[in-house]
Amino acid sequence: MNNQNKSLPAWPAIVHGKCPRCRRGDMFATPMYSFKAQVMNKTCPHCGMVFEREPGYFYVAMLVSYAMFVAEMVTLAVVIHVLTGSSNPWVYVLIIMSAGIILSPFNFRYSRIMLLHWLTPGLHYQPETSGDKQI
Ligand SMILES: [Zn+2]
Repeated sequence: MNNQNKSLPAWPAIVHGKCPRCRRGDMFATPMYSFKAQVMNKTCPHCGMVFEREPGYFYVAMLVSYAMFVAEMVTLAVVIHVLTGSSNPWVYVLIIMSAGIILSPFNFRYSRIMLLHWLTPGLHYQPETSGDKQI
């Protein structure tokens, strides 16, 4: 079957960490939570796009990941306050630090996905690259 003209939706590609250009190839070679370090593919296994667009490109992902961390921690602080009403700072520090460690693989992965899908000028979905490989 020829799916050359079928365009793939954006959200499943973002949630599953697919390539921003073809929305088919995986960006990451390893699962999000495992005992081994996360490994990102150098190029898209489907369309061959190089994910690191220029040297130091993923430094920008650190800023995205920082913004995600701040948003998560502020949300968590409000939730802790509403649920416990505690004014003991150690309650906040312990819960927020544990959550920061648990969420760090998630932030690492989705900061890079958001960077490539939304924050990179000139990088767009190209439906013609998502068809089945020729040859
Ligand atoms: Zn691709």
